Amino acid sequence: MTKKPMRKIAILGSTGSIGTNAIQVVNSLDNYELFALSAHSKLQVLGEQVIANRPAFAVASDPETARKSTFPDVDETDFLIGHDHLETIASHPDVDVVLAAIVGAAGLRSTWAAIESGKQVALANKETLVVAGPLAMSLAKQRNATILPVDSEHSAIFQALNGENPKNIRKVILTASGGPFRNASMDELRCATVKSALNHPTWQMGPKITVDSATMMNKSLELIEARWLFDLPAEKIEVVIHPQSIVHSLVEFVDGSVMAQLSPPDMKLPILYALTYPDRSSGPTEKLDFREAFHLDFQPPDFEKFPALLLGSEVARNGGTTGAVLNAANEAAVAAFLNGQIGFLDITRACRDVLKQHDFDPSPTLDQLISMDLWARKEINKWIAA
Ligand code: NAD
Ligand code: MG
Repeated sequence: MTKKPMRKIAILGSTGSIGTNAIQVVNSLDNYELFALSAHSKLQVLGEQVIANRPAFAVASDPETARKSTFPDVDETDFLIGHDHLETIASHPDVDVVLAAIVGAAGLRSTWAAIESGKQVALANKETLVVAGPLAMSLAKQRNATILPVDSEHSAIFQALNGENPKNIRKVILTASGGPFRNASMDELRCATVKSALNHPTWQMGPKITVDSATMMNKSLELIEARWLFDLPAEKIEVVIHPQSIVHSLVEFVDGSVMAQLSPPDMKLPILYALTYPDRSSGPTEKLDFREAFHLDFQPPDFEKFPALLLGSEVARNGGTTGAVLNAANEAAVAAFLNGQIGFLDITRACRDVLKQHDFDPSPTLDQLISMDLWARKEINKWIAA
């Protein structure tokens, strides 16, 4: 058997939920080497990751936290301080694959640098496509960069579409667990606490995406992500509630055939697939056991209880500046909810109001999108203060 060539990977956001899963995946593959890692605030964890993995670079992206921290003395590793160095590692000529696993629009510039440098980009940072989908996809085409989805739903769709002609897609159906409030009443939603919103039934994830799952804004962001990643009109993308999180999404073709991808809820699989594609490896992933009985349920979503879902369809239809506004408004509103400044239902209300007020531009530049992001965050603060 021929030996596979060694591939060097940079993990942007290595201390997060995706980042730590990714380190396990990379360590299970014999042709992958951890070349660079990054963290924003958990620098103690970054230090431990450096000692265990000895990458060439480790970036501490927040200089404030870095000033108060000490870094381990590891011969093989250069510590770089500051957000700009995320771009240094994302575009480093020795890097083959960049795993974009920073949360939020804070991951945009480094993901952009990876695409611009023509890397294989394993994309967990869905916010890049929500904010700047058309620009990012056309840049990828221009620079010959490959974007492989890490979001489990998009990984499932990507796998279901393998070898298919896109013109034969009738629709794509994103599955959603429904989050911790799937069966909650309107009254329960009104009183939802931070603790209950962070208690996801099937997935272990970072706090921002966990709150997004509770409001179902996560599915909205994923709908927008799918719209740009697969170049599908918004009308062809639907959402179905599937509480077990085993069917990760479905594609229905014109002849009525539906292709699904199934596996236990474990992000190591979509990470592994994005790294090994077009090959596969057994990896450290959990496997389904069909010798045990289990069942799969599907039901339509409740748009009245989860109006955030409607915002995703609206943004996927209108494009332009709407994605940057919705994403930034949501990030600011989720942060305010986590700080106890607003209630659970206020998150979606605030986003809807800010989206309505904004000055729409159908074909913005990246700089305009970044300005819109800042504007939307300020508007959320005004909304909270009002
Ligand atoms: P997390 O909060 O657990 O980790 C975030 C990582 O980003 C950390 O390493 C942190 O140091 C870094 N980071 C945070 N703020 C930063 C900033 N301002 N600048 C630079 N780095 C910063 O988040 P997560 O759950 O791992 O999610 C990461 C991304 O993956 C998100 O875009 C999320 O939507 C997506 N995603 C996550 C999951 C999941 O299961 N966790 C599933 C699908 C998609
Ligand atoms: Mg997902």
